[in-house]
Amino acid sequence: MTLIIDGNHVAASVREQAKRSAQDYLQQTGKSIGLAVVLVGDDPASAVYVRMKEQDCAEVGIQTFDHRLSEETTQDELNQLIGKLNADESVHGILVQLPLPGHLDEEAAIAQISPEKDVDGFTAENLGRTLRGQNALRACTPLGVMRLLEHYDIDTCGKHAVVVGRSTIVGKPQSLLLLEKNATVTICHSRTADLPAVCRQADILVAAVGVAELLGADCIKPGAVVIDVGINRNKEGKLVGDVDFEAASSLAGAITPVPGGVGPMTRAMLIENTIQSALDA
Ligand code: NDP
Repeated sequence: MTLIIDGNHVAASVREQAKRSAQDYLQQTGKSIGLAVVLVGDDPASAVYVRMKEQDCAEVGIQTFDHRLSEETTQDELNQLIGKLNADESVHGILVQLPLPGHLDEEAAIAQISPEKDVDGFTAENLGRTLRGQNALRACTPLGVMRLLEHYDIDTCGKHAVVVGRSTIVGKPQSLLLLEKNATVTICHSRTADLPAVCRQADILVAAVGVAELLGADCIKPGAVVIDVGINRNKEGKLVGDVDFEAASSLAGAITPVPGGVGPMTRAMLIENTIQSALDA
């Protein structure tokens, strides 16, 4: 029987614990934990993500400071706002929702965020500290994947983990976290030769590509753990992952669905990072 990894369930238990931590913080300091949310422009998908993140915060008792900026916002205006939030003691975490409108420089915006408030774990400081195995605010999606593996007692030690995708926010930090847990890691990307043959070697396969249902049955080793980070719309407009769930689930030992797998865990790790950031302040 294939195990369906339930991200909603694990995320709910993370939020439950976070609620207790936020209450303790309030009792001990008389202050709420605060997350500033910056949304530039009116991308509908980003607006949905921001709303869900703010709902999670409300549920656990984290105060959110909502900053909606117009599509015409300049880099200077955005940088100034981030500077103000860096200096604001009631703000423990700063989330700048990506993607930014095309005329804005995402790298420059991320670089403005104080590493101590970088709850997405995207700054060079936090990524570098992760690379060095030091205490850091770690990128939420890879962290959420590791938490899922841990929750389901999926041992990574000595296993061959194949990560498809090498982005700075998912693929690369994911590979580092798997390596830290003693997996033997292979990273694939758009120039990888014979992708299915490499994927078939994976005891743990993490797909973070952004191409709907790219990885089919020919990519799955029987019994493998399949973690699908992708969020895509297929031709029919249905939300699907990077893995063909139907085909893969008949071979996999365990698999995450889309939606309901990694997505809720990314949001849960944002909450945890915000609490961490408040406790470390
Ligand atoms: P990017 O576009 O930044 O990176 C995609 C990676 O996939 C690149 O390294 C690219 O290779 C590789 N790639 C693209 N096409 C192929 C291919 N045909 N074969 C092999 N590799 C390929 O995406 P992200 O990492 O930001 O996101 C990946 C997916 O995860 C998206 O669907 C995104 O929506 C989703 N996502 C989900 C989250 C969640 O919470 N569940 C959070 C963040 C992202 P190359 O480097 O060579 O171009």
